[in-house]
Amino acid sequence: MMPCIHCGACVPVCPKGLWPNQLYEALAQGDLARADALGLARCGACRACQDHCPSALPLTARFREGQGQVLRWTEAKARAAEDARQAGERYEAREARLQAAEAEALEAKRQRRAEAQRRAEARRPAKGGTDARRDAQRAALQRAMEKAQAEGREDDLARLTAALTALGDAS
Ligand code: SF4
Ligand code: SF4
Repeated sequence: MMPCIHCGACVPVCPKGLWPNQLYEALAQGDLARADALGLARCGACRACQDHCPSALPLTARFREGQGQVLRWTEAKARAAEDARQAGERYEAREARLQAAEAEALEAKRQRRAEAQRRAEARRPAKGGTDARRDAQRAALQRAMEKAQAEGREDDLARLTAALTALGDAS
C-alpha cells in the first residue's frame, strides 16, 4: 500500500460528491470533527474511490470505521452537552433553594424581632397608669394617717408618714 499521492482520481468518481482523499487524511489525523464536516456520514461505502486509487488505499474500510468513530464521538458530545445542561439546572435549582431559605430566615428573624418588640411594649407600664396608682396609694395613706391621728395611734402615724414620704421620694 502506497501513501496518498494526491492524484485526485478518487474525487470525480464519488457518487455522493465527497472528497475521499480529504476524508482519508482527516481520519488519518484523528480529526473526527473535520471528517464529520466533510460529510463522512454520507459515504455509502460503494468502493468507487478505492477502485480508482492508484495507491490501493483501503478507503472504504477506513470510511466505515470512521463513521462508527464519528457516531460515538457525536453521541459522547451530546451526552456531555446533556450533562452540562443538567448540571446547570441543578445549580440553578440549588441557588433558588438557597435564596428561598435565606428569604425565609430573614422573614423569621423579622417576625421574632417584631414579637420581642411587641412583648417589650406590653411589659412597659403606661406613665399615666403609674401616676394614677401612686395617687391612689397616697390618698389611702393620707386617709389612714387621718384615722390614726384621730385615734391617737402615734406609732402607726409615724409609720404611715414614713411610707408617705417614701412614696413621694419614689415618684
Ligand atoms: S466509498 Fe464513499 S467516499 Fe468512496 S466513492 Fe463511495 S461514497 Fe464516495
Ligand atoms: S485516488 Fe488515492 S492516491 Fe489519488 S488522491 Fe485519492 S486517495 Fe489519494
